[in-house]
Amino acid sequence: MPLVSSTPMLQAARAGGYCIGAFNVHTLEMLQAAVEAAEELRSPIILQTTVGTVKHLGPDYIAAAATVAANRSSVPIALHLDHCSDFDLIVRCIRAGYTSVMIDASPFPFDENVRLTAKVVEVARAAGVNVEAELGKVGGVEDDIVVDERDALLADPDECERFVRLTGVPTLAPAIGTAHGIYKGEPRIDFDRIRRIAERVAVPLVLHGGSGIPDDQVRECIRLGMSKMNVATELRIVFSDAIKAVFASNPDENDPRKYMVPAKQALREAVAAKIRLCGSAGKAGGPL
Ligand SMILES: [Zn+2]
Repeated sequence: MPLVSSTPMLQAARAGGYCIGAFNVHTLEMLQAAVEAAEELRSPIILQTTVGTVKHLGPDYIAAAATVAANRSSVPIALHLDHCSDFDLIVRCIRAGYTSVMIDASPFPFDENVRLTAKVVEVARAAGVNVEAELGKVGGVEDDIVVDERDALLADPDECERFVRLTGVPTLAPAIGTAHGIYKGEPRIDFDRIRRIAERVAVPLVLHGGSGIPDDQVRECIRLGMSKMNVATELRIVFSDAIKAVFASNPDENDPRKYMVPAKQALREAVAAKIRLCGSAGKAGGPL
């Protein structure tokens, strides 16, 4: 099937009390590994790229690869642009074939966040593309967006309600205490805040910073209403470690297939584990 908007799969996840994994990919092999894991488990999946990866590879190359994967696949696949504050780049990605975009105007004051998000929603809606916006600030580092972890502000439930009403945004990423990258200690997730936001907001909620959150805490986030989980850092580490292991045992290896194949296999297993944790296995329909 063609690439699909992530809106319906996320709404189904919210209604069904499970979550869809959104996996950051940087190479063709990473993209293939994620899709193979989703097919094996009959799960819908979101492939996502950061602005950095879009600039590195080009949105048209990424969309072309994701489109081929989707056309060959029988599970729903969406392609999402993660954390973008550049309206023109969002439009370029939609034109290239992305089926979901994130406008991250969270560093701006509330009214400006509303204005910028509503502008993206208008463009995306006409193209049948999902939009995700952020309220509050997720801690840590993601590409060139840096937030001092101590100053990370959590999303206010009343503001979340107003924000969704004013923008019409179909997916919301409220800051609830998670951080990007790998946690130095235990994450301090504000579970009660998730519950209060989910009570006021009917749209699917997105959990950012999914790398390194203990499984039981992820399950609690999903139970409380998180319908999409972003995983980036953990996957990069798995992929890179598998390549390092090849060179550790054979420093003279010079055939990319010899190190990409084990890296792809390791990533496929890591994505499969996250899909099981999300509870989305079997949700694509068909035999499991
Ligand atoms: Zn994020």
